[in-house]
Amino acid sequence: MRALVACALLLLAACTREPEVHEADFLTFGTLVTVQVADAGEQRAQEALRALEQDFRFMHEQWHPWLPGSVNRMNLLCETGEAFVIPPTLLPLIERGRALERASGGLFNPAIGKLVALWGFHSDDPERDAPPDPREIRALLDAHPSMADLRVDGIMLTCANPAFRLDPGGYAKGLGIGQAVERLREHGIEHAMINAGGQAHAIGRHGERPWRVGIRDPFVGGVIGTLDLGGDEGIATSGDYERSYELDGRRVHHIIDPRTGNPTEAGVISASVVHRDPTLADAAATALVVAGPREWMRVARDMGLDTVLLVLHDRRLIATPEMARRLKRDTRGDYPMETVDPAQR
Ligand code: AMP
Ligand code: MG
Repeated sequence: MRALVACALLLLAACTREPEVHEADFLTFGTLVTVQVADAGEQRAQEALRALEQDFRFMHEQWHPWLPGSVNRMNLLCETGEAFVIPPTLLPLIERGRALERASGGLFNPAIGKLVALWGFHSDDPERDAPPDPREIRALLDAHPSMADLRVDGIMLTCANPAFRLDPGGYAKGLGIGQAVERLREHGIEHAMINAGGQAHAIGRHGERPWRVGIRDPFVGGVIGTLDLGGDEGIATSGDYERSYELDGRRVHHIIDPRTGNPTEAGVISASVVHRDPTLADAAATALVVAGPREWMRVARDMGLDTVLLVLHDRRLIATPEMARRLKRDTRGDYPMETVDPAQR
């Protein structure tokens, strides 16, 4: 009898068991990345986390938009208009960047680095004393910088447009998370959560429940709601509050509309996208902020997004049916939410 009770107690403990979690923080592209590994055993978890430390350091060096590294070198070589050997670490940025620009109808455009720099965002402390000269913006817009300006011939690369400047800021985090997921799997990790600023990706589960994330409430702090992530799924949020400065009493933020050359004014504070592909989620979230409340449905359809939340400046929420189904709302910020199916529009 005593053995039976002990056994029942053990079973109960197993039911409510919290997983054993190993955690490490990394700094990459100025973002704090937190990785939690669950139920992998001390040694396996620590080895995987050590490997990630090297990966994130390498990505930071290679992909940083303005510090010396491969992207920076590429942009300098682009200015010359002459062919140069493609650094292999840039291939994913080039290939994915090209496809994502196309898929977003050009609203996501990593080739507009010169516009982003013109607004002062290629700096650790972005600011400007005066807005950029509209003629400079016009000249860049007229030159239509695009990932399609890159000519790849074998291992050689040429930039066919002097207005081109690669800015991986809108999708490097997603690519980095994607590579980190692969690395964790190589190390036999089956349960983990990667959290990097506005983006998170889950592998497996957190013990007996799914990994859970919150979508930030940009008005009062806290979260708008939470949702459970599937075993290989993540969420990216782009927010105009992430990087900004004040100029003449107005906030200037870092998401640039490639059609106007100005920080986007479409009325979206943040866009969140749930997807299995972290790079796509990252780029799509940025593209949806640019697209705004009237055009986002087309971007969602073209980029294959079914779980999207937009937070608008006028404190309304727009959700796809799938997001509305999965989001557990927090009652504090009780903003009205409209459900819109991009497939029906
Ligand atoms: P995210 O935080 O993912 O929305 O990315 C924003 C960053 O992407 C900015 O800081 C810029 O470096 C870059 N960026 C800004 N506007 C765009 C755009 N329309 N397309 C692609 N990248 C952009
Ligand atoms: Mg992004």
